[in-house]
This record gives sequence, structure tokens and C-alpha cells, in this order.
Amino acid sequence: NQKVVLVTGCSSGIGLALAVRIAKDEKKRFMVYATMRNLSKGAALVEAAGRTLGRTLQIKRLDVCDEGSIKACVDSLPERRVDILISNAGMGLIGPIECQSMEEMKTVMDTNFFGLVRLLKEVLPDMKKRKSGHIVVISSVMGIQGILFNDIYAASKFAVEGFCESLAVQALRFNLNISLIEPGPVITEFERKVYEEGMKIDLSKADKVTADMFTNIYLKNYGQIFESLGQTPEDIAEHTHKIITMENPPFRHQTNTLYTPMTTLKYADPNGDLPIDTFYKMVFEHDKVFNASLNFLKLLRWRSRKSFSLEKDKNQA
Ligand code: NAD
Repeated sequence: NQKVVLVTGCSSGIGLALAVRIAKDEKKRFMVYATMRNLSKGAALVEAAGRTLGRTLQIKRLDVCDEGSIKACVDSLPERRVDILISNAGMGLIGPIECQSMEEMKTVMDTNFFGLVRLLKEVLPDMKKRKSGHIVVISSVMGIQGILFNDIYAASKFAVEGFCESLAVQALRFNLNISLIEPGPVITEFERKVYEEGMKIDLSKADKVTADMFTNIYLKNYGQIFESLGQTPEDIAEHTHKIITMENPPFRHQTNTLYTPMTTLKYADPNGDLPIDTFYKMVFEHDKVFNASLNFLKLLRWRSRKSFSLEKDKNQA
């Protein structure tokens, strides 16, 4: 008896890797509906799906910003059944808020937050009726902790986390599971697109200090952070595959053990000053501290490559 998995945002990155990994499940436990906003962007998925296409993977159109397209997609499934919903579609936005338009900001909230809300409005009532289902949301470590110049993106992921945390209590009553996957940096199109958009920002609306902070500190170190901390979409897919095959999946799962020291700071100080002071020191105190931290993280990464294990992650959490 195959479980039906619906994944959003599968034309690239994590969504593509996820859909393919689950479709290639060794025991063929899943029928994957890999969805994307624009079907003409399906070539990379078709290639990666290989022999699973038409067997354990099918491609469908779904735009998370369009209620009609979500309904049409779910209506097209046998008995409208979705056992596992993976909400992955999302977009980034970096830069000083004074240089961003309200329209740009609303598009991020509309995709990252209301996109999830629209999906659940369509899928949750059926799951409640069946008293079974698993909602998996690709959130981010920025859903627990804000990062310099990611104000709107972090806000959109905080919204996702607050929404899911509230729903999780109700979900328990219906025997449903909700899991938030929280990756740190992942090397995908997302990262490249966000960086390229960042390079194009018209900084004339920002004061000199802010503009300098963005260009000479944030953008300058952007690539290095991804290089030293970044995971691959396949890493995230592997973690997610494990989460959907667990008997009792956790509500939160961070995929990157290199990042946990940072997120732990948040819980270590109820006043909230510790993570803020630490990030401030990392970024501004002097480049040396920043570079030393990066080198330390590189070393950790090298060591942890040898010992990847989700169970271990869980025990540490
Ligand atoms: P990506 O840009 O490769 O993938 C995002 C996908 O979402 C794209 O295929 C895009 O077409 C799709 N999408 C955007 N708007 C859509 C819409 N309205 N309807 C349907 N699909 C839409 O980037 P990614 O890194 O694979 O991002 C996937 C998820 O992972 C996002 O939610 C992102 O916030 C999250 N995430 C990414 C990183 C990272 O560093 N890359 C880190 C943590 C979390």
C-alpha cells in the first residue's frame, strides 16, 4: 500500500532532490506527485527522476500563490488523497528594508507563508477526516533565529513556525503529524538567485553605514558561509526521507549539526541577548573573529562528514 506524497517547488533545488529521493525509495513505499509552478521548467526533474517517472513519480502543476491551481492539482489525485504533504516552495530576499519595495516583501510572505496556508486549507480537512497524514514543511534555521539582512525572509519563516506550532496541538487530536525541517545554508539556485538579486540592489536609499555593511560585510562573506557550512539538496532530501519513514517523527528537525551551536544560543538565554551579541561580535568586532569562526566550522564540517547519522542528531537535540 503506497503512500501518496505531494511535494511543492520541484523544478530545482531541495524540492527536486526530495521528490527524486522519495520516488527512489528502496521499498517503493511512495507514490510521489512532484509539483511545480511552471511545467516548462521540468527538464531537470525529468532527467533526475529517470526510470521512476510514470512509475513512482508523476509531475503536476501547482502554484502555491494560486488557490485554484492547488485545488485543481489535489482534485486530480485519486480520491484527492495526500498522505504526506511536503511544503517546500519558497523564495529568499536579502538587503536593507529601506531598499526593498512593499510589493517584493509581500511576494515573499505570500509564497513562503500564505503558500503553506493555502495548501493546508485544501489538504488538512481531508487528513482530519481520514485521521491520518503527515505535513512536512521545509522551514529554515531562520525560522528560529533571524540573520542580518534577511529580515523579511526570516519573518516569513517565523510565521511558518508559529503557524505550525499552533496547528500541531490540533493535529494531535486527529492523529496527524507535523514536522518542520530546518536546514542551515544549502547550496542551490536559491542561494545563487538571492546573491545575484542582492548584487543588483539599488543602495541609494540606504545610508552609507548600512550600504557599506551590506556590500562589504554581508555580501563579501556570503559565498564563504555557504562554502564552509553549506549542505547539498541531497543531504536535505536524505534527512526528509528519514523523517517521513519514522514511526514518531519529531516536530522540529535541524539538518545541520554545524549550525546547532548557533540556534542553541537562543534557548540558552531567555533575555534573547546572547545570540544577538554573538552574531554582532561575529560580524563586526573584527574580521579575525569571523574568519576564525569560519575556519573552526570548516574543521568541524570535515570531521562531521564521516559521521552523518540522523539518530545521533536526534539524540543531541
Ligand atoms: P530553489 O530556488 O532552488 O527552489 C525553490 C522552488 O520553489 C523553485 O523551484 C521555485 O520555482 C519554487 N517556487 C517559488 N515560488 C513558487 C510558487 N508560487 N509556486 C510553486 N513553486 C514556487 O531553492 P531551494 O533552496 O531548493 O528552496 C526550497 C525551500 O528550502 C524554500 O522554502 C527555502 O526557503 C528553503 N531553504 C533553503 C535554504 C537554502 O540555503 N537554499 C536554507 C533553508 C531553507
